[in-house]
Amino acid sequence: MALDDDIERILFSEDQISQRVSDLASQITHDFTTNAVSSSPPVFVGVATGAFLFLADLVRKIKLPLNVDFVRAESYGSGTVSNGAPRISFDLKIDIQGKHVILVEDIVDTGNTLSCLIALLKSKGVSSVSVCTLLDKRRKVNFELVGKGKYYYGFECPDYFVVGYGLDFAESYRNLPYVGILKPEMYK
Ligand code: 5GP
Ligand code: MG
Ligand code: MG
Repeated sequence: MALDDDIERILFSEDQISQRVSDLASQITHDFTTNAVSSSPPVFVGVATGAFLFLADLVRKIKLPLNVDFVRAESYGSGTVSNGAPRISFDLKIDIQGKHVILVEDIVDTGNTLSCLIALLKSKGVSSVSVCTLLDKRRKVNFELVGKGKYYYGFECPDYFVVGYGLDFAESYRNLPYVGILKPEMYK
């Protein structure tokens, strides 16, 4: 009963992810150093649960003072199709008014989750919202960044249901060190 038995194919290996996370961290470090418009550190807001590993690996490689907080978003329940209306728990500990926020996501599919989260951040008076997602399915992404916010992504993801490196199916597989395609018989 190995964890890997349910995986059809690895899409992004542990090494590929690690390399890409380093690239993103350097890019963000560079951008937030050259655009140091604010005296307060940027706030990295992870979208739980899926972004927990990505956020942990990313912030360790960012060579700047920063803050970390979490919101929670749930769009799939225990299925594999987004229901379009994400359930969001938005209870930040950090006062983000006037701050630069980087929303850290596991994967962007329709962009619905992000546009809801960005609207909530905007209503709190943030200076900017950037987005950093590990994976982007490049479908119909319908969200707008705030201020001078930028969009960062790790990999373009083909349109399969993927798990691992934080991403789940019914709360399992999050601990796989790579991103892989789940065997369709696991959810059909
Ligand atoms: P969106 O709101 O952009 O349609 O969907 C975003 C959320 O749906 C992601 O944060 C993620 O939690 C979930 N999601 C989208 N595609 C996948 C996928 O292929 N695998 C998994 N495990 N979750 C996904
Ligand atoms: Mg997510
Ligand atoms: Mg999920």
